[in-house]
Amino acid sequence: MKIVSAEFVMSNSDVAKCPGGSLPEYAFIGRSNVGKSSLINMLMQRKNLAKTSGKPGKTQLINHFLINENWHLVDLPGYGYARVSKKDKKTFQKFITQYFEKRKQLVLGFVLVDCRHEPQPVDLEFMQWLGENQIPFAIIFTKADKLKPNALKANIENYQKKMLESWETMPNYFITSSSKGYGREQLLDYIDAINLEIGALQRA
Ligand code: GDP
Repeated sequence: MKIVSAEFVMSNSDVAKCPGGSLPEYAFIGRSNVGKSSLINMLMQRKNLAKTSGKPGKTQLINHFLINENWHLVDLPGYGYARVSKKDKKTFQKFITQYFEKRKQLVLGFVLVDCRHEPQPVDLEFMQWLGENQIPFAIIFTKADKLKPNALKANIENYQKKMLESWETMPNYFITSSSKGYGREQLLDYIDAINLEIGALQRA
């Protein structure tokens, strides 16, 4: 897919106020600092479409971007846990779970994972939650340039092994580097193929 246009549409924390219409939409989520803003900017070939920041938790909103005037890219806040009770029971920020539960236009979520790290409980739990709620997702491994090929391969295999403890198959995944541009074409082609399928179904 060639990116012809990428425009900021709106930011808010209420799924009910997200853009109307029926354009397919893809949401990007992950822990703070995982490289989400850099990835979005790399995909769109823009320096500052998504705001990169050293400060975790700076972007605490649902951010919609209109791409090629035919799909929405959604930049979600880095998830952490919100404390919900004195007993220290933890849950994901409510407006994020509500977004995934209620947003009809959502086609797929991309869960970003730093390829250098061991599988993190918060990521695994979030994917588990997506699975339980039947929300399709794919994994994006970020910062692949930071590892040597063998280490990268070992980490991905380790991740797969961990996933297969609770999943029947490994979800689709992509290996990316924003600084090198790795994975850009694969990701955009993946989105493009789904959009074409949706378009064909709508016309049928
Ligand atoms: P966000 O908080 O998830 O939006 O993460 P950012 O995109 O702001 O990136 C966090 C830090 O990781 C920044 O210092 C980026 O320069 C760095 N970073 C992000 N992606 C890559 C990558 O693909 N390769 C390398 N080497 N650094 C990256």
